[in-house]
Amino acid sequence: MGYLGGFMVTLRQRGEKNRVTTQYSGGRVFRRNKKRAVKMDEKLEKPERLHGRHVLNRYEDGMEKCIGCELCAAVCPAKCIHVRGADNDPMKPTSPGERFGWIYEINYLRCIHCDLCVEACPTEAITETKLFEFSFTNRQDAIYTKSELLVDNSGKPQQLAWEDWREGEDLNTSGWMRATAASGDANFTGVVSWSGELGYGIRPAEDKSE
Ligand code: SF4
Ligand code: SF4
Repeated sequence: MGYLGGFMVTLRQRGEKNRVTTQYSGGRVFRRNKKRAVKMDEKLEKPERLHGRHVLNRYEDGMEKCIGCELCAAVCPAKCIHVRGADNDPMKPTSPGERFGWIYEINYLRCIHCDLCVEACPTEAITETKLFEFSFTNRQDAIYTKSELLVDNSGKPQQLAWEDWREGEDLNTSGWMRATAASGDANFTGVVSWSGELGYGIRPAEDKSE
């Protein structure tokens, strides 16, 4: 089939019934107002535990939670995390531990958002937001660096130029699911917990009755 034939197939597939790939737009819905043909750009509501792009969290005093242990990189099935730890300066530590995450990178061309890195992290430093509406035009942007992943001075994710954040989406970004019971307490198996963190303080665990 030549180019012309290909275009004809594409043109025949236009139309409401035949749309498949063109209908999906990064989780957004385009609704057409019949009277004025206005296009609305809305995101679909997401599940509370959706796994989106990561953040590196800070404690309430602003210190970084990452201790550079590399467990997240070790567990990652896609081998997309690159971490290197370094010793803290005792006079001006970056994290409360002996070491801190000196280099931290996630390659989003590989990440499958399985959340295993979040489960493996002993300090809840790495968690996932609900944002998945982000795309890149070059490889460099797809590899998030520590300075991009680290939450800002108010504890919220940074909003990068190629990400589509909407109002309220930067809240509660550090919910994480415990695969195992916290401290061996079976009551907390599978319950979302919140650690004390910059901008949010300590929030109560998810209500299991809901
Ligand atoms: S979510 Fe999964 S694939 Fe993505 S960085 Fe974490 S462990 Fe790797
Ligand atoms: S994010 Fe967590 S698991 Fe990964 S290096 Fe930092 S402290 Fe270790």
